[in-house]
Amino acid sequence: MKYNWLGPLLRSLLAPIAVGLLLGLFLGDYGWSLSGGLAAYLAWNLYQLIRLHHWLKTYQPDEPPPDASGLWGEVFDGLYNIQRRDQRVRGRLQAVIDRVQESTAALKDAVIMLDAEGNLEWWNRAAETLLGLKTPQDSGQPITNLVRHPQFKTYMDQSNFSASLELPSPLNDRLYLQVQITRYGNGEQLMLVRDVTHVRQLEQMRKDFVANVSHELRTPLTVIAGYLEPMLEHADEVNPRWRRPLQQMQQQAERMKNLLDDLLLLARLEANDNQQLRQPVEVEPLLQAIVKDAQILSGADEHRILLDAEPDLALKGNEAELSSAFSNLVYNAVKYTPPGGEIRLRWWSDRDGAHLSVQDTGIGIESRHLTRLTERFYRVDASRSASTGGTGLGLAIVKHALIHHNGRLEIASEPGKGSLFTCHFPATQLMEGRALGNAS
Ligand code: ADP
Repeated sequence: MKYNWLGPLLRSLLAPIAVGLLLGLFLGDYGWSLSGGLAAYLAWNLYQLIRLHHWLKTYQPDEPPPDASGLWGEVFDGLYNIQRRDQRVRGRLQAVIDRVQESTAALKDAVIMLDAEGNLEWWNRAAETLLGLKTPQDSGQPITNLVRHPQFKTYMDQSNFSASLELPSPLNDRLYLQVQITRYGNGEQLMLVRDVTHVRQLEQMRKDFVANVSHELRTPLTVIAGYLEPMLEHADEVNPRWRRPLQQMQQQAERMKNLLDDLLLLARLEANDNQQLRQPVEVEPLLQAIVKDAQILSGADEHRILLDAEPDLALKGNEAELSSAFSNLVYNAVKYTPPGGEIRLRWWSDRDGAHLSVQDTGIGIESRHLTRLTERFYRVDASRSASTGGTGLGLAIVKHALIHHNGRLEIASEPGKGSLFTCHFPATQLMEGRALGNAS
């Protein structure tokens, strides 16, 4: 909008000129009277300017600008209106902030705002009860100084927060917390902390239940299998009508035993998840023994089982766990490869660590199943697995045994062509003194 400056100029000059002229009429000297009027006007202007300066210097949001008449009055009124508008906007913003703070304070989950360096900026009440943060003395402190769990420090040092972290509360180690961090703005971090003690207890109850049931079922099963064995050994003394049912009972008892063994092994693996493994495990002899057993399992199917293993390449770990992981992969290759097929085992190291691959020329697996294969009891084809005597727990055991050794399982497969299962172990899992990368 175009500002019309002529009107205010004339209005403000009109009064001093009129007063000067009037004085000149009385005193008879227009020149001095006019100058005197303008000088008085200038002094008044300076006075108003100083009042404005003082008001600005000592500005208080609740203190209105000074009062005046004329052009200065309009300026002060304008400032007053801006001040009121500002106060209203500020009030509205404060109300929004208060509401957000009230709602986050009422949250059971802790909400913590950290700056880009990981220093505390703001947190809600739950952060005080879950993590023991103290208001206001902890403000500006690095969060890693206040939550001193080593896993938390490692989690904060890494830049990838896609996964959450579970750790005991620094105030009470019976309380389990789940921490999730999201980055926003210029590297600031929003940290959400949830009490997951109940979920963990349920998870533990599930694990204990499975382990206890498996354990309790073992004794009656041993008794049943124990009676069946001599009965079948003296099959000629048994009524011929009962021979076949007895054989089937023995087969199913064997299957149940395998299932219970696998469930117990899985329970043990889960219970040991956090334990460090340091025992040296010579992998080449272990694989040789597995190949021998696999050849026996193959029997009349006469699979060609080839082993190419780097000697003296040892892992830090638990031999029994590694043996069940590797044998599950090799026995699966035998089970799911038609007679005469080829199974290749390769154990080697490179800069990334050590690797074991089990490749077969078997029936293969459709790609849609690959991501779910390591789930408990997941089977591509239930009827086919039942005929091979599988429990559906083999690959779950492999996965957990590898996790326990900081490793991971990679699966590639093509229906009709065969499958490739590769276990990857990081270099840190190798026994010290091993030069990496000297094998192809
Ligand atoms: P199972 O005891 O049924 O073999 P696993 O957990 O060992 O259970 O394997 C899960 C499923 O993965 C199997 O049912 C089978 O369908 C598939 N599978 C595993 N290994 C192979 C393989 N080498 N070739 C083809 N399919 C496989």
